[in-house]
Amino acid sequence: MLISTHLNPDGDALGSALAMSLYLDSIEVENEVICNNLAPYNLEFLPHKDRIRLNPKKKHELAIVLDLDSLERLGKTRDAIEDCGRMVLIDHHIPHQEPGDVRIVDVKAPATALILTRLFFALNAKISPEMATCLLTGIVTDTGSFRYRNTTPESLELCAKLLQFGGDLVQINEEVYQKKPIESVLLLRKVLDNMKVLCDDQLAYSVLPAKDFTDIGAVEMHTEGLVNEMMFIRTTKISALLREPGERKLVRASVRSRGDIDVAAALREFGGGGHKNAAGCTFEMSIEEAEPLLVEALKKCLGY
Ligand code: 5GP
Ligand code: MN
Repeated sequence: MLISTHLNPDGDALGSALAMSLYLDSIEVENEVICNNLAPYNLEFLPHKDRIRLNPKKKHELAIVLDLDSLERLGKTRDAIEDCGRMVLIDHHIPHQEPGDVRIVDVKAPATALILTRLFFALNAKISPEMATCLLTGIVTDTGSFRYRNTTPESLELCAKLLQFGGDLVQINEEVYQKKPIESVLLLRKVLDNMKVLCDDQLAYSVLPAKDFTDIGAVEMHTEGLVNEMMFIRTTKISALLREPGERKLVRASVRSRGDIDVAAALREFGGGGHKNAAGCTFEMSIEEAEPLLVEALKKCLGY
């Protein structure tokens, strides 16, 4: 079986993919894990992260795709996944496209890793400490360490069980949140410097043009989590970060919101998506052109 997940993978994507791989090992099913990108620095601690490859070694008959709402987000792994012929999809995003022959989708689940945890417990799977850490990483990262509204009683109950199976919560929190490379912190300074606050302080956003990346020697990976820093303002209902990390005319946007404000819906018009409170999209234009488009859409979302 061939396991894949979305490009620019986060803790839920890789934690889920590795946990699935370890589960398949435990029932003696041959498998491989591929992804468009290798683990980012803050996920390098994940047990067995060396399994993640950019290309499969062989052809497989079944694909298992995790934490993915649209096929484009498979990136360069898309061909290998489509070559398998059949696909099982396990996900918690609001459906955007509906890929997969078998779909296990629960948009109320805080993380794909939580859906897997349910499945593994239902199957009486043997959960090793490594598997528990992978699953816990997915749930911890997608709930913001159990701070977001998606933290349900069930997520805490299942995480308690994962701790009993040897999941290492302290290691996860340290590695994911407290080991930032200097480039990330220097970018944070730029984010705060370039920040604009609109709509009676309810919309906080910032831009990172290509020059900021070259000045610092930073890459896209170093922007992970920066959009959240603008949500610390008590009046902020939406925060957004626009960035131009590689070539000019390719701009990524990350948007976060509080409560009932659905930013995934607001980004649909730009071909983006995600979750109600955490979404993203890509603009193929300059950052100067993208900024007013995004700002208008977010203002509308706030009723301005
Ligand atoms: P992030 O801002 O952390 O990159 O992404 C936040 C959420 O939005 C993630 O759940 C991710 O899957 C989703 N997302 C980010 N970029 C895109 C995009 O270009 N298209 C879609 N459909 N979802 C996205
Ligand atoms: Mn997820």
